Amino acid sequence: MTAQVTEKTTEIPSVLRTSPDITLRSDISVELVDHNASDLSVVRAARVSTAGERAQHEDKGAGYTEGLIKYLMRCRHGSPFEHNYLTFLISAPIFTVRHLMRHRTWSFNEESARYRELEPVFYVPDESRLLRQEGKPGHYNYVPGRPGDLEDIVSGASGVYAAAYREYTQMLEAGIAREIARMVLPVATYSSVYATCNARALMHFLGLRTHRPDAAYPSSPQREIELVAEGMEAEFSRLMPLTHAAFESYGRVSP
Ligand SMILES: Cc1cc2nc3c(=O)[nH]c(=O)nc-3n(C[C@H](O)[C@H](O)[C@H](O)COP(=O)(O)OP(=O)(O)OC[C@H]3O[C@@H](n4cnc5c(N)ncnc54)[C@H](O)[C@@H]3O)c2cc1C
Repeated sequence: MTAQVTEKTTEIPSVLRTSPDITLRSDISVELVDHNASDLSVVRAARVSTAGERAQHEDKGAGYTEGLIKYLMRCRHGSPFEHNYLTFLISAPIFTVRHLMRHRTWSFNEESARYRELEPVFYVPDESRLLRQEGKPGHYNYVPGRPGDLEDIVSGASGVYAAAYREYTQMLEAGIAREIARMVLPVATYSSVYATCNARALMHFLGLRTHRPDAAYPSSPQREIELVAEGMEAEFSRLMPLTHAAFESYGRVSP
């Protein structure tokens, strides 16, 4: 079936964004809260093999750093890219946090629905989100929604969210444990998570969770986790520009 491609003229009705019962969000926030990440740390870790203790005090200049990082990336000598960390605070719907948490070389701490009452904040796509898919699993192509699609999605979803949250609060008021009451909340409920990785793990994540047709192994992640990846990549390229450039040059494959 070929979906009819139309101009995106839909807008989320503002009344739905300011419902007294629930809050609808379309953004996903990624904040770098801590880090110890630099290109020089990669060079020093690599140089310890030939310079021993001297490596820690060496700085042979940007040209040398760039050349060695390119060499390490090209040869897939990955361990020197592990001696650093980046910690992010992410606010995203649960289904996106779930994608993030598949990455086993990271460390995570997430908001608990056992220990706190969750806020009535839920995800809906905005006007920029492609809403329809064509093709087969693994080869989907996403196209804009038809007129009215976005309004239908937002109106249907917000009704379900409001009903689910009402049920949740009624259970809490009746004395039911938070860990039981939470089962009625949808995966579109916002959660917050601390996520820490090193540059090697981050590059692996970026290779899988961004869609770049020019990559050596193009991936097709869901747009919402890609937004997380894009936020992280902006910080990574700022803190480790030579490592990021080498990652780009060698096909966005983690060494
Ligand atoms: C487009 C896309 C679609 C996906 N669809 C699905 C889906 O339908 N269902 C689903 O369940 N998952 C799905 N996933 C998740 C996917 O299967 C991986 O779990 C996720 O991408 C993490 O990748 P990873 O295992 O390479 O990396 P990480 O978990 O980040 O680990 C990094 C690397 O460490 C090594 N490693 C880690 N753990 C082990 C281990 N136990 N044994 C050996 N080596 C290890 C591997 O080399 C691995 O590549 C999807 C991912 C993407 C990007």
